Amino acid sequence: MISFEEASRIVMQSEACPVKEKTGFIDSFGRILAEDVVSDTDMPPFDKTAVDGFACRMADIRNELEIIETIPAGKSPEKKISWNQCSKIMTGAMIPEGADCILMVEYTEQTASGKIKFHKDHSAPNICFKGEDVKKGDAVLKKGTLIGPEHIAVLASVGSVEPFVFVRPRVGIISTGNELVEPEKKPQGSQIRNSNAYQLIAQIKKIGCIPNYIGIAEDTEDATYKIISRAMTENDVIILTGGVSMGDFDYVPQILSKLGFETLFESIAVQPGRPTVFAKHNRVYCFGLPGNPVSSFIQFEMLVKPLLYKLMGFEFRHINLKLPLSINYTRKRSDRLSLIPVKIEEDSSVTPIIYHGSAHIHAMTGADGVMFVPIGVTQINEGDSVDVRQI
Ligand code: AMP
Ligand code: MG
Repeated sequence: MISFEEASRIVMQSEACPVKEKTGFIDSFGRILAEDVVSDTDMPPFDKTAVDGFACRMADIRNELEIIETIPAGKSPEKKISWNQCSKIMTGAMIPEGADCILMVEYTEQTASGKIKFHKDHSAPNICFKGEDVKKGDAVLKKGTLIGPEHIAVLASVGSVEPFVFVRPRVGIISTGNELVEPEKKPQGSQIRNSNAYQLIAQIKKIGCIPNYIGIAEDTEDATYKIISRAMTENDVIILTGGVSMGDFDYVPQILSKLGFETLFESIAVQPGRPTVFAKHNRVYCFGLPGNPVSSFIQFEMLVKPLLYKLMGFEFRHINLKLPLSINYTRKRSDRLSLIPVKIEEDSSVTPIIYHGSAHIHAMTGADGVMFVPIGVTQINEGDSVDVRQI
């Protein structure tokens, strides 16, 4: 049995050689940039006004000004500003020649003769200067960026309509267990519905990889062998659930060895998720997650997700929040790291979710994250701070 930190280290030592491809910029949402994106223009592309008002000379702001032109956004100014003159100008419009400030419309009034009078002693220039945000040729987005809505805006603004992104890993999913039936079926007798496969499909989709559901394998050596050997040819990563514990019919670890996988670990000092297997065969990585849905959910988030992101070309960082516990917490044994589902309250304190163990998937539906109870710790007092990971 190895520590959870060691397991994370081993997983993240895996090699990643993501390949790039082009995509439409709207479809690049959730993908990882495979090249820096360079601006093809200065931003702003011309000196423009930040406010609605009157473009004039700063040295002229105490005088009454004659309006010589109206400049809406999108129209180039035609007249040059001289003394005692101004042009009415709208936010985003180009500054006319001769002007070096824009008087905000809010601080002006029109005289009976139609001239403009400024009420204040001072005005800011209220000008956004050409290239002050970005210069043509600047890298506006870096390779390795996880593309969100704000990055899509940048792609659009620099005309990068077909950016290079990394190819998404294909992730094969296998459920093991004679007791499993698919969700459309009503379980009979000792059967239960297969929920893990669908939970995993959603978790994989959420981070932008391609889920490839293979099916349910019966708990026999033959069925386990056949389904994994098929999955090896079609996927970058294989995730199995179930069949990794000490039961008589838990065949996954031995079949992985038989198929030539190198087992990197098969037991972690963590709760839930002790019998988590990680193995590799050339460039194919395989996780054997415990069958209990909470274990599978949490270990995907803790161990599988960072690797999938790495294979996608993204350096994912777990963020640990230090938050106060809202109650006293105790446990009997302390030989494993506990990852306890918690709710984050409005006052930012955390409350462990009442849950009956790692089969109790409904408990996760009310959780905002998990708190870490380190090895050796049996008691944490109300108000003490705990490490929480949002998942
Ligand atoms: P195992 O790891 O195979 O010993 O399974 C541990 C527990 O998880 C058992 O109670 C299984 O019935 C349950 N389980 C295994 N696979 C799934 C699945 N795909 N969906 C829901 N529960 C499962
Ligand atoms: Mg099983």
